[in-house]
Amino acid sequence: MARSAQLGVYGERAGVFVRGHGSWLVDGEGRRFLDFTAGIGVNALGHGAPVVGQAIAAALETGLIHTSNLYRTAPAELLAQALVERTFPGQVFLANSGAEAVEAALKFARRWAGGPERPVKHEFVAFRRGFHGRLFGALAVTDRPAYQEPFRPLMPGVHFAEVGDVEAVRALVSAETTAAVIVEPVQGEGGVHPVPVSFLRELRSLCTERSVALIFDEIQCGLGRTGSLFAYEEAEVVPDLLTLAKPLAGGLPMGAVVLGEHVAAAIRPGDHATTFGGGALVSSVALAVLETVSDAAFLRGVRERGRIVEAWAAGLGARSPVTSVRGRGLMWGLELDGASAEVVTRARAHGLLVVGAGPRVVRVLPALNIPIRDLEEGLERLEASLS
Ligand SMILES: *Cc1c(COP(=O)(O)O)cnc(C)c1O
Repeated sequence: MARSAQLGVYGERAGVFVRGHGSWLVDGEGRRFLDFTAGIGVNALGHGAPVVGQAIAAALETGLIHTSNLYRTAPAELLAQALVERTFPGQVFLANSGAEAVEAALKFARRWAGGPERPVKHEFVAFRRGFHGRLFGALAVTDRPAYQEPFRPLMPGVHFAEVGDVEAVRALVSAETTAAVIVEPVQGEGGVHPVPVSFLRELRSLCTERSVALIFDEIQCGLGRTGSLFAYEEAEVVPDLLTLAKPLAGGLPMGAVVLGEHVAAAIRPGDHATTFGGGALVSSVALAVLETVSDAAFLRGVRERGRIVEAWAAGLGARSPVTSVRGRGLMWGLELDGASAEVVTRARAHGLLVVGAGPRVVRVLPALNIPIRDLEEGLERLEASLS
């Protein structure tokens, strides 16, 4: 293809795809690729998913794509209700992307924790390897100096701790100055690091003790990815705020924040808004996706597929460049003793699409309903790309 008129923020991008079906993408020359990226976790039901197509068609029948935030629509009401029913008592703010959901959650946390009476309770504690998006607030709580440096000053008052370092967190989380702690229960972009359940529980009790909001960012690990509807379920604690996005609307842009009752009660009209958020079309599609991924049999299928990946990884052998394997459900990271970019390139030559998670980790993030034979085929191709 000729030089792209799209801005060069993504570097070299190989591949111009023209069709998709299930876990396959097809390029302009008719070459087929098995997709282990699923749109970086967005296309959780695969490409051309009937559930998504039917929801879009049904939504179009109503003639409502968007009505603005001046009015409520039935799909957005139903979606918010369905999210609350599946999480914890509270309310939902509908946004358009992951970073927007994080940005909103940071504002809501400050509104709840601080306000005019306690203007200094505005700081945030985030974690090494954490990723929360590229807008100014989300970027400030993201542990990527290279992404941050060119754009300083960012939102001030952010402190970072190592996952698992309870003492450091106790020293940083202040009842007087901290508004919120933000963490991904499974860190995605930072290399697929599941956060120990015991640490999530420590964070929960510390935040409760010091009146600090706990934000779980499940934009990547939520909505069935780990084999339970939400990754935090394993810890048997709930956050004060939960951010969702990537797979939520089946490939259409959407983000959401679920706020616990107490946080929701602190929010006033005018505190936040978005023109597009919670449009009728995207909300209808999100409701269909949510119902699909919430199904117990569907989630069992994710866990079953996860065990196939786990067994495959265990059999890789000492000669493979994989030094460790981490993951849950269908979210896996293979740590290499070499560059992940090389394996990504070699996999492509084998007709397999994978994505790195940092310089040394290859991520396996297939559709949650990937047919077992496609999963096994992809793992064979990945093994060939590793040797
Ligand atoms: C992708 C991601 C984001 C950012 O989402 P965008 O839609 O790209 O803004 C935030 N948090 C986590 C955990 C993510 O994986």
